[in-house]
Amino acid sequence: MSCSPAELKRKSDEFLSKWHACKSHPGLDGFVEFAVAVSSFTEFLDAKGLPGLHQLARAVEQQVLSQFDRWNSDPIVDAPMDDLNSQITEFSARITSFLDENTDANPERRLHQDAEVITDLLPVKKIWLLTSVPSSWKEVVTQAGYFNIQVEVCGAHYDQKPTQDPTIVLVDAKGLESTAFIVRVQALRSRFSASSIIGLQLPPEFESLKLALRVGCDFCFPVGTTQSTIMARIVKLCGSEEEPPYRVLVVEDSKTASTLIQRTLKESGVESMAISKPQEVLTTLAKFQPDLVLMDMYMPGCTGVEVTRVIRQHEEFLSTPVVYLSADTSIALQVDALRLGGDHFLTKPFNPVILNAVVRSKIERYRILRRSMFLDSLTGLLNHTTSKQRVDAAVTTAKAEQTPLCVAMIDIDHFKKVNDTYGHPMGDQVIRSMAWLLKQRLRKTDAVGRYGGEEFLVILPQADAERAHQLLDRIRIDFSEFRHPVNRTSFACTFSCGIAQLRFGLNAQSLVKQADEALYQAKHQGRNQIVGV
Ligand code: GH3
Ligand code: MG
Ligand code: MG
Ligand code: MG
Repeated sequence: MSCSPAELKRKSDEFLSKWHACKSHPGLDGFVEFAVAVSSFTEFLDAKGLPGLHQLARAVEQQVLSQFDRWNSDPIVDAPMDDLNSQITEFSARITSFLDENTDANPERRLHQDAEVITDLLPVKKIWLLTSVPSSWKEVVTQAGYFNIQVEVCGAHYDQKPTQDPTIVLVDAKGLESTAFIVRVQALRSRFSASSIIGLQLPPEFESLKLALRVGCDFCFPVGTTQSTIMARIVKLCGSEEEPPYRVLVVEDSKTASTLIQRTLKESGVESMAISKPQEVLTTLAKFQPDLVLMDMYMPGCTGVEVTRVIRQHEEFLSTPVVYLSADTSIALQVDALRLGGDHFLTKPFNPVILNAVVRSKIERYRILRRSMFLDSLTGLLNHTTSKQRVDAAVTTAKAEQTPLCVAMIDIDHFKKVNDTYGHPMGDQVIRSMAWLLKQRLRKTDAVGRYGGEEFLVILPQADAERAHQLLDRIRIDFSEFRHPVNRTSFACTFSCGIAQLRFGLNAQSLVKQADEALYQAKHQGRNQIVGV
């Protein structure tokens, strides 16, 4: 969970107060407001990594949205409202019990949290593995350990109550009847609100996977999935990367309309900025860097379609989604708008739930697209170009703030031999392991990129050479002990590293060059070591 219990409590109270308001003043407006609150809370639980509560919220959201279909300008009939009420009561009881477990003033737990702060570089994540064949998961357990992920292997008896929800519960379907697997997942789902549940070794048929997801699995891996794919998912779920909030630019000449739109977006946790003069669109796009533009159709002096066409002349905004909002519902207009660079058309007055759903789904896909532009596809680290840009930015900041900055260049030793002996795909796997380890061990403010084939660039703001050395040497030792499984055996790899600290007279380019020279020296001195300058 990446939010504090207090934050969850506040959000949950907000949601419940909207529900009470909606019940005591029946009417469409109040119900729409409540529907927005449900959607907002559902998205919040998803973003904060609370899969169990998120699934319950989604069920409530579905129930709420289905009421819109029945609504014929009359208040909703009593029976469905009673159903909804009991569903919400149950949901709220689950949140309360989750909060009780996580907000106690247990000194032991507080001690544990303090300890985590001190060893902030090595936070340990706990996960559970329920399996009747522990021996087949030995490698996964060992590998996870290198990423500070502690796997507790449990057999059929897993009744001990953990102090905190594990980050992940892995459920091995091997040796279980399909109904036994379902019962087990359902029981775990109702018990762990903050854990992701992953089904393993499932029969690969569509029906079996569909059912596993339906009863509460967040992910499921059929028989034959490689252990490295499973590890990749585990590492990703245990990572602490949090997405920055979604950002929307509203281009709208009516102040009333833009205020309403911005309020709706805010309910859903989306940041926004509004401009009323279309001619300001380019400068605002460059400054605000939105993930999406909500465009009014008619404005003084030009139409929304014309504004979009101007935006599309600029390479960097070629794929920024544009969603139109218009009171004019003519089909001809809509087709024209979509042909000329728009992505979606919504009619005014807008349904706030639909508006937020469209905005979120467009942004989600846009961010995936952008990720592929800036990140390396094999490792998910920054790609070469982006790494270099990050060094530039880090040097500028360090100089302006007069804070230390280190850059490290890492290169895997004798990597050609790995490819030659075990094959290129195995080489790729070693590169991925290196990337995972770096991502896992570095702070949020650090950056790491894949600079070349088996070469990595690490940027450590606020770190002097000594601290950088300490941190990277620990990683070096752990990486050298890491066993890479291949067939029935395993092998180890090492890396060499050069560190350079920003000093007077250096710029981004010369700083990276110094790190590279230090790396060359480390190689020259026998590899598997770190040299700092
Ligand atoms: P050294 O200790 O001196 O670094 O020895 P080395 O064998 O690692 O030397 P070098 O850096 O020259 O070799 C890197 C090799 O990495 C060459 C290339 O075939 C391989 N390689 C580059 N990119 C990839 C990749 O994406 N996947 C795999 N599997 N191999 C790659
Ligand atoms: Mg207008
Ligand atoms: Mg090498
Ligand atoms: Mg190399």
